[in-house]
Amino acid sequence: MAVKTFKRGLSLPTRKHATEGKAVDIVPLPKQVVIPINQHFGAPNKSLVAPGDRVRRGQKIADGANPGPMTTPVHASITGIVKKIENRTQTNNLDGPCIVIEADTASGAEAEIDFLPPLDPFTCTREEALARIREAGIIGMGGAGFPSHVKLNPPPGKKIDFLIADGAECEPYLTTDEAVITEKPHLLVKGLAIVMKITGVNRAIIGMEDNKAGLIPLIEREVRIGGYPGDISVRLCKTRYPQGGEKMLITALTGREVPSGGLPMDAGCIVQNVGTLVAIAEAFTLGKPLIDRDLTVSGGACKFPRNIRAPIGTLLSDLPVEFIDIDHDKLRKILFGGPMMGNAVPTTAIPIQKNTSGIILMTAEETYMDAEGPCIRCARCIRNCACRLSPAIMKEALEAGDLDEAVRAGLMDCIECGSCSYVCPARIKLVQRFRIGKQRLRARQAQEQARKKAADARAAQAETVRK
Ligand code: SF4
Ligand code: SF4
Repeated sequence: MAVKTFKRGLSLPTRKHATEGKAVDIVPLPKQVVIPINQHFGAPNKSLVAPGDRVRRGQKIADGANPGPMTTPVHASITGIVKKIENRTQTNNLDGPCIVIEADTASGAEAEIDFLPPLDPFTCTREEALARIREAGIIGMGGAGFPSHVKLNPPPGKKIDFLIADGAECEPYLTTDEAVITEKPHLLVKGLAIVMKITGVNRAIIGMEDNKAGLIPLIEREVRIGGYPGDISVRLCKTRYPQGGEKMLITALTGREVPSGGLPMDAGCIVQNVGTLVAIAEAFTLGKPLIDRDLTVSGGACKFPRNIRAPIGTLLSDLPVEFIDIDHDKLRKILFGGPMMGNAVPTTAIPIQKNTSGIILMTAEETYMDAEGPCIRCARCIRNCACRLSPAIMKEALEAGDLDEAVRAGLMDCIECGSCSYVCPARIKLVQRFRIGKQRLRARQAQEQARKKAADARAAQAETVRK
């Protein structure tokens, strides 16, 4: 099988050996969970519960504050009492509203669940299927948190030719996707068949890095057994970072390029992470909302690296020691996510979220804590950017407060892969600046929209008075 790839990028030490091939260990339901109300990319949610309410595992507890497609509900992951709703630090290091649930005596009983009724994805209507995916709270589990029901419903006129299952898992340390494919290949293939039915696309490709070649027979067997209509194939890509980025995977698997400022659908593709596809299959077959998350716990300060499944909202500090034994003497940095795209967090009181693919406990040897130096204009960041952007110029523009120049240099095309920061000899925190720059840009756009809305309202009022 020919191995595909994209141009540029990095050849990184994969550091997956500690958890590769390990089964997923199920964490028992914890005594409390802290569930962020907003875990998706889009408009904010509001709580549907109040302190004192009793909730059951699987019950919807927050949903869109205003009607609109860019919201995704969240659900209780344990049965118990809502203790409080308060701001807590989340995996992105920002404070946000969270629902704190404490297990009551009945918690832990699997019977006390509040799942949706099962739904046959192959006989229900497209609208019913999209509504099911939304109601189950499913978002992209590979990192971005984009609502899946929106991604699977492209606007009229956008022709989609390929559905791509992203199993590349190019981040060092992480083996969650590998474990999901190994343990649930039937649900992966079923999830793919469901999204093929919803979108009407008859060609799907499961893309993996070539370090997972051993999984191909497993998947191909399930494709044969499933007998779903359409063409589902598996293709290998080179083990190269950031191969799992949507744009890179599309180029490697289809030869197509996502245009600047565009989305995968502009290249005729929809990409879904393999874990997301499994969650979609479970939302139909079990009626199960997205309340548990598979993740890798690893790093040099993790005594027994492993893959685990934990209820969403479980604090790192509440994970039992059998599942994450931290070597506090060696620990220098805690990352939620992988070492390239994850966030360093200041405390262990951080909840696992829908898009938490791993928790990496790093030693001094695995990370660098050096102070930043001045830019020496070596252009390494430019040469290694897989999106062919100019990180050094973006950085200068942001430091000068010139958001428009940063956008011209490619800010909004940056996939935040962190390659530029990794190769920078001056240890300049480039990707961190780009994340903040994007937040500032979005805040500015929101202000401009609010101002325009207010001006339109004033004009409409004046027109009414004039009449
Ligand atoms: S500019 Fe963005 S896309 Fe390019 S290497 Fe840096 S983080 Fe990755
Ligand atoms: S890699 Fe670092 S030092 Fe070199 S040009 Fe880019 S920002 Fe400057």
